Amino acid sequence: MKPVTTTFDVIIVGAGSVGVPAALALAQKKIKVLVIDAKASPGQGQNKCAIGGIRATHSDKGKIAICQRSIDIFSTWQEIHGDDIGWIQNGYSFPAYTDADAKKLKELMVIQKSFHMDIDWLEPKEYQALVPGINMENLKGSTYSPKDGSASPLLAINAFYFKSLEHGAQYRFNEKVTHIEMQGDNQIQVTTDKGCYTTAKVINAAGNFARQIGQMVGLDLPVTPDSHEGAITEPVQRFFGPMIVDLRPALDPATADSSNYYFYQNNEGQVIFCLTPTHLITGTASESTSTFLPQVAKRMVRLFPKLANLKVRRTWRGQYPMTPDGFPIVGADKTIPNFINAVGMCGQGYMMGPGLGELLARIVTYELTQEDLDVLKHFDIQRDFSEVEHFK
Ligand SMILES: Cc1cc2nc3c(=O)[nH]c(=O)nc-3n(C[C@H](O)[C@H](O)[C@H](O)COP(=O)(O)OP(=O)(O)OC[C@H]3O[C@@H](n4cnc5c(N)ncnc54)[C@H](O)[C@@H]3O)c2cc1C
Repeated sequence: MKPVTTTFDVIIVGAGSVGVPAALALAQKKIKVLVIDAKASPGQGQNKCAIGGIRATHSDKGKIAICQRSIDIFSTWQEIHGDDIGWIQNGYSFPAYTDADAKKLKELMVIQKSFHMDIDWLEPKEYQALVPGINMENLKGSTYSPKDGSASPLLAINAFYFKSLEHGAQYRFNEKVTHIEMQGDNQIQVTTDKGCYTTAKVINAAGNFARQIGQMVGLDLPVTPDSHEGAITEPVQRFFGPMIVDLRPALDPATADSSNYYFYQNNEGQVIFCLTPTHLITGTASESTSTFLPQVAKRMVRLFPKLANLKVRRTWRGQYPMTPDGFPIVGADKTIPNFINAVGMCGQGYMMGPGLGELLARIVTYELTQEDLDVLKHFDIQRDFSEVEHFK
């Protein structure tokens, strides 16, 4: 029988949106990496709750740069590795129905263009050509970023997982990390409910449970999960182009308590959608509510009446592992440099995963570039968390 290896260069806690692509990037650099997850297979935390949106359309250099690299990886995956992960370059759009929103989006575009993003303002008629049937009443125009896209979170994580195995990454599933002990400058002991491992470095990629993992080494990471619900319809012939993000809060009492919502048609023709409640529900309870579907369906049909007869096949509820300012926390605290955090992914962990995985590998191998250091400033664990991201 093959002896069980218990000593690693890196142990990643969490085989999710971040942990699996990080394991792939590390294994590609021949780092001996183990990923431990309490669930039975990869992506069973919040990764499988994501609706699959992938955009570089953010408001800060950190997320833009990470997601531009992720888009490179998602969009070329099939060509390079052969697996269909459901990628389509359908773009993102943020239509504006008030002058204030149009102004805000146009101002943001200036920042986005300064990072070489391919994003433009479409006049109402131009937008109507991309989304035929969209409600034109008070439409002021829309941003459109054609390079953004979408892919299946289930197919993508499995593709990354199997590729990481080929490169030698190891996984232990159904195993919960219960204790982490710093045993000296270069040795950390990770204890689970099934065994004990030693490693030089730990990456905390525990999603909703990042705070608890941080507490094991005396860190208080401000990551609080809050609920978001999603749904998917039957597949139909393609009838609109980009992801549509309606930034407005609910306009009438029938849909009250809902903030923005977004939806797109995936590679199989299914419409997938998601809604942000105004009053956030914190915690990890994941039963679908009875309010989500009536609220979001009314708003979607009002915005885009062609959606009216689509049958919804399934709804689900998951969480965003939120930080107070909407930016992730990536990197180590000065006092424990070998305990690296990749947590607080908010609503963008799936799209950030591949780009972030490579960045984490460069942190481990001390290969950070000046560009990486600039990116990491946005995600610094020591930052003042009081500034809020524009798209939070
Ligand atoms: C409805 C909805 C829609 C979304 N849509 C999008 C989208 O379109 N695009 C996007 O980018 N993001 C989206 N997100 C957000 C995205 O799902 C998350 O940001 C992302 O999955 C977080 O990744 P993660 O790796 O940090 O956590 P996860 O993917 O949850 O992985 C963490 C893993 O850690 C494991 N773990 C935790 N504690 C322990 C322990 N003690 N021992 C062992 N294992 C442990 C968990 O089992 C889990 O598998 C959406 C989320 C929701 C809820």
